[in-house]
Amino acid sequence: MKNNELKAFNDDDIVKLLKSLQVYDDVISGNKNCIYCNEKMSLINIDAILPIDHRVEFSCSDSECHNKLLVRVGG
Ligand SMILES: [Zn+2]
Repeated sequence: MKNNELKAFNDDDIVKLLKSLQVYDDVISGNKNCIYCNEKMSLINIDAILPIDHRVEFSCSDSECHNKLLVRVGG
């Protein structure tokens, strides 16, 4: 499994994944930001969930951020 950094989610998957990573509350209360543009993350604009060191970071669905993400994961 090579794609654990970047997955396509449906809404149920996002909620389950965020809860399993213990960041669901942070996201819905607006405490997480896109690593590229610093946009506040919400359930509807999550493009990717990125495990970085021991933290969980997010990128948003903005097209520029998505392109940066693709470069990052080599896709
Ligand atoms: Zn962004």
